[in-house]
Amino acid sequence: MATLPDKRTDFIEWYLAVVELAGLSDKRYPVKGMNVWTPYGFRARRNLDRIMIREIEATGSEAVEFPALIPQTEFAKEKEHIQGFDAQVYWVTKGGSNELDIPLVLRPTSETAMYPVFALWIRSHQDLPLNVYQIVNTFRYETKTTRPFIRVREIHFFEEHTCQVDETTATARVQSNLAAFERMAAAFALPFVSVRRPEWDKFAGAFFSIALDIPLGEGRTLQIGSVHHYRENFSRPYEIQFEAADGTTKLVHQTTFGLSERLLGAVVAVHGDAKGAVFPREIAPFEVVVIPILSAASGEAPTRAANEIVARLTRAGFRVHLDDRDDRPGAKYYHWELRGAPLRLEVGAREAAARSASVVDRLGTRGSVALDTLEADVDRALTAFDLALREKARTEFAHAFALASSVDDLRESKHVRQLAWCGSEACGHAIEQAIDGALLGAPEGAPPIDAPLPGGCLVCGESRDVRWALAARPL
Ligand SMILES: [Zn+2]
Repeated sequence: MATLPDKRTDFIEWYLAVVELAGLSDKRYPVKGMNVWTPYGFRARRNLDRIMIREIEATGSEAVEFPALIPQTEFAKEKEHIQGFDAQVYWVTKGGSNELDIPLVLRPTSETAMYPVFALWIRSHQDLPLNVYQIVNTFRYETKTTRPFIRVREIHFFEEHTCQVDETTATARVQSNLAAFERMAAAFALPFVSVRRPEWDKFAGAFFSIALDIPLGEGRTLQIGSVHHYRENFSRPYEIQFEAADGTTKLVHQTTFGLSERLLGAVVAVHGDAKGAVFPREIAPFEVVVIPILSAASGEAPTRAANEIVARLTRAGFRVHLDDRDDRPGAKYYHWELRGAPLRLEVGAREAAARSASVVDRLGTRGSVALDTLEADVDRALTAFDLALREKARTEFAHAFALASSVDDLRESKHVRQLAWCGSEACGHAIEQAIDGALLGAPEGAPPIDAPLPGGCLVCGESRDVRWALAARPL
């Protein structure tokens, strides 16, 4: 049995090994950064989608799907947006052997696909708000090293696009998205911080961008999503306007909310350990794996009990898998620990005779369940497991941050740094240089460390407009 690299000292090697050995993704496809979703990985992705759909639809958003190809003429309408994406887009220039009159962009994100059509859909204030989302694949010619789920060229992308009557309503939509993400993150047991990106790091074309960041240990962070306020930056070039109640014509204010399969990478990265992946209940491909333990003397009883357990749990709505392969129990335990199954039920001759099963959760907690109360016992064990996983993640989250009170502090790179910043770009860049990373921006709401705000900027000492900010080495 292979041993995994050390998560703390060789994080990336550890991550790549877990993704591969757990059978979540196959990176051997002959286009770099475009990976194959395996059956096991696809199950996790479907659960991820289900959670995103549930939470966004609870806020009144509706599913749509726009085409993958965007005419160059539409793509070029918003100047900052095209500059931000120009180096990352794939072009379709031929149909068969004919050169296309207007080259087509393979969507890197769908603003420029949707907004010409929004301009047709929206006529009056009664057509607003327009809140729609799609889950589609987007394509970006990524030049950095690609990593399964975390940095890919074909992205499994969730994008919500909304049109609102004014700036205030659009700001409220941003807040509603952040609240929806809070609920999604709870399902993944992922503590995160929302951070308003500095001007020089916001989304191409946005008025402001709020990123959702998680710490990954050793001073690293990963952005796992973002919410943007566009004001009228896109509605002006795309002429998305409406007749207001007073008869005047106004431009809509827009917002977007973007998530991706990175969330699955984050679940692996945050919860995984020396034995492999650890999946919270809601995203786990299988919540429960049942393993009959057979011996020469056991007869058919363990198999019969295991079949009963699988049938009953399936009927009760659990995602359950029977591992009846011809292999040693120890090898099966290893197999499912690597793959992160939250709960393993073992049934040998003794358990079968007692109408019970041994239960071991992925964090190592042992117990037993009675067949009489099987469904309730399994549900309780899964709930306890999720709670323990959440607590573990919260403790690690709390330890990931440290205050920095001087530029020198920033050079110690074991933590994500919380520091006082005046908001100026010059000081921001000085901070980035010292930490050899990025100034993530100012946290929305309470900062990770509850401490009194210093009187002046860490770099220049200026006291006007001083606020907390976070700095890290983004993965
Ligand atoms: Zn400053």
